[in-house]
Amino acid sequence: MEKITNLIFLGASLALSASIAMAQTQQYDLLLQGGHVIDAKNNIDAVRDVAIRDGKIALVAARIDPAQAFKVVDVKGLYVTAGLIDMHVHFYAGTGEPRSYAGDNSLYPDGFTFRVGVTTVADAGCAGWRNFEDFKQRIIDRSKTRVLAFINIVGAGMRGPKYEDNLADMEAKPTAEMAMKYKGLIIGVKTAHYSGPEWTPVEQAVEAGTIANIPVMVDFGANRKERPMAELVTKKLRPGDIYTHCYSGLRDEQVDGKVNPAMFEARKRGVIFDVGHGGGSFAWRIAIPAMKQGFPPDSISTDIHVTSMNAGMKDMNNVMSKFLAMGQSLKDVVAESTWHPAREIHREDLGNLSQGAIADVTVLRLEHGDFGYTDMYGARLKGNQKLITELTLKDGKVVYDLNGISRPDWTTLPKDYKQSGDARWDSINVPPRGRGNAATKQ
Ligand SMILES: [Zn+2]
Repeated sequence: MEKITNLIFLGASLALSASIAMAQTQQYDLLLQGGHVIDAKNNIDAVRDVAIRDGKIALVAARIDPAQAFKVVDVKGLYVTAGLIDMHVHFYAGTGEPRSYAGDNSLYPDGFTFRVGVTTVADAGCAGWRNFEDFKQRIIDRSKTRVLAFINIVGAGMRGPKYEDNLADMEAKPTAEMAMKYKGLIIGVKTAHYSGPEWTPVEQAVEAGTIANIPVMVDFGANRKERPMAELVTKKLRPGDIYTHCYSGLRDEQVDGKVNPAMFEARKRGVIFDVGHGGGSFAWRIAIPAMKQGFPPDSISTDIHVTSMNAGMKDMNNVMSKFLAMGQSLKDVVAESTWHPAREIHREDLGNLSQGAIADVTVLRLEHGDFGYTDMYGARLKGNQKLITELTLKDGKVVYDLNGISRPDWTTLPKDYKQSGDARWDSINVPPRGRGNAATKQ
């Protein structure tokens, strides 16, 4: 009897030491197994395993031993990309100001990002230098989403014509100073919605961008013959500056059914063309001819705010799907939503799956069926593909999981189960102690 007990004890301790040894060999926190990886930076468009450790991409390879991972998620049949970057959003919510992008027109980030695979956003000028720090403490510091910003050249920010047409509040110097104070967080300067005939907003924005060494994004406002779009993109903007709303048609983006030749000329000199769909900045009759004439966007962005998300725009996956419906390849659409915007905002640590990169990862499902997509005028284009976000990782941890592909089946858990995750790979269903601070480093 004693012998048997000893044997059992020996067996148990062997099993214990085996499991300790196994834990030590599990060098990866999380392994995404068997997905089709699209990574524009590294020119990967193939089935690959992706291993993550300490919030960073540890390895991307044809096969990675699952025994080396603490957690394995099967993503066969799905597409794996870097976390999506939406570089035109409006997220300065919570001030209480009505009819203002520094207020009621804006959204809180986290409810609208991870569910569509977006891990990084750039707020497009809701705040200027006078209220940037208020925006930072209200939104940037409290969000799990990585919130970056284009600072408005208008000191008071994007708060309607009374402010946005006020030339006296467009000053390069304090704008650049604020941008330099928050380097890496303020990634550009925005000028928007100006209705007057002067070049002042653009010139001040470019001066601020030059001092702070960051790009300028332009929403060119009213179409004025005194300051034509052609001159803006071929002369006033620098290489690397960004023209958003490029398929609106509101500022001569199309002339006699053709893409304005100035846009081709500007692209050659390095000016960037961004979608910025929004509520009133994307028309099929502009975008479709432009795509056919060889003028795809450099980057896809939503211009999400309270109105656009319930109109034709809807969300990042919907806007990406529109470009599939126009015949772009998934590889190009993903590049325009990850690596291209990362480069445009000078954050090359994002938007790619290089070894050591921040492990923001999105897992997408490409659905086939009958779908419809509407533009700013409510005109519809039919499509047979639609992108759906299945899983989103931010800094290596699950922040969204549509169908529970990372979760255990409830029947496999103890009868009185509470939490099913582990802080090593999960930030949703983990004990409060393991959850860490809601806000993370941007
Ligand atoms: Zn906008």
